[in-house]
Amino acid sequence: MHAFVHQGLASKVIFGSGVIDQAPEAAAELGCRRVMVLATRSQEAGAGRLMQQLGAAGAAVFARAAMHTPMEVTEEAMAIVASANVDGLIALGGGSAIGLSKAIALRTDLPQVVIPTTYAGSEMTPILGQTQAGAKTTQRSPKVLPEAVIYDVDLTLSLPASVSVTSGFNAMAHAAEALYARQGNRLLSATAEECIRVMARALPQIVVTPDDPEPRAAALEAAWLGGRCLAEGGSALHHRLCHILGGAFDLPHAETHTVLLPHVLAFNAAAAPGAIRRLGLALGVEHPAQKLFDLAQSLGAPSSLKAIGMPRDGVDRVIDTLLADPAWNPRPLEAKPLKTMLRRAFDGARPR
Ligand code: NAD
Repeated sequence: MHAFVHQGLASKVIFGSGVIDQAPEAAAELGCRRVMVLATRSQEAGAGRLMQQLGAAGAAVFARAAMHTPMEVTEEAMAIVASANVDGLIALGGGSAIGLSKAIALRTDLPQVVIPTTYAGSEMTPILGQTQAGAKTTQRSPKVLPEAVIYDVDLTLSLPASVSVTSGFNAMAHAAEALYARQGNRLLSATAEECIRVMARALPQIVVTPDDPEPRAAALEAAWLGGRCLAEGGSALHHRLCHILGGAFDLPHAETHTVLLPHVLAFNAAAAPGAIRRLGLALGVEHPAQKLFDLAQSLGAPSSLKAIGMPRDGVDRVIDTLLADPAWNPRPLEAKPLKTMLRRAFDGARPR
């Protein structure tokens, strides 16, 4: 018997085409009368269109969200929340825009409507990572879980194929770690397996026909499942390493997940045979870690930490940081095998 505690998380999910138009209504349902729209710089135009749709309920736009949720950016946005008397948030974009929304919600408990345009899955989780002085710290709080999530497939058509691939790997990483989560259960495993099956099939189609809404819809639905896996299953070595790497070297989040995932799965394989079997079923292979490595390569994703900006001498530092505050993991964490694994990921060697 495997005992577990399952905490279901409630948020309203609207999924479809053109459903961004329901954002003003969703905000009004939450009692918002003075909404601030959040985005990254590259999605400023979309944020502006949302402001027009909000009409009198649009109080401010802040389009300077950044990856890894730097505290100084949150402080800038907080000043506008106060001066514009904001009573609700709408985030449009990937994990960066949603992270900023969550950081403001943590400080204010304002209601959030989020409109994800990548597959990162942050919208489904009560988890917030924030960065200050090169260190990323993560916390869970019910305050940061968005009340309403609007998945509009149309908005994902513009996500470049290369970003789609790495973002899709980010979603599969949430699912993969849920397969060996301490609080694992059949609901979570079924969700995780389906996320990986659907995403792994959709990504090659998206690379060939990025404008086709069918694989885009499949990938977005898989992203929803991946987000739920992270929210309800928790995470282990893989996510902890990605956070340390992101905070220490400002590595791009989704690419880091893509490079590292096959290596961590290979590292954990012997300690989590049930998870590896389910991963294999989802991917239709016997060796899922190697399959994910090959899939990423075949879709043109980066395959080494070196290629995405990690310095060579960073390996020891990352493992020292990890072991100073280790994550739970199915395989015990020891410096030597961890460093060997991370060096292989740094060099882009095949996982083993
Ligand atoms: P991102 O939000 O930074 O997006 C990457 C880039 O793509 C940005 O410039 C963005 O404007 C652009 N973009 C997004 N959607 C687009 C679209 N449809 N068309 C064109 N361009 C688009 O990247 P991300 O990988 O989604 O998010 C990474 C951040 O999310 C990290 O800070 C990570 O820590 C966080 N995250 C948090 C959780 C959580 O549960 N707390 C989960 C996953 C990721």
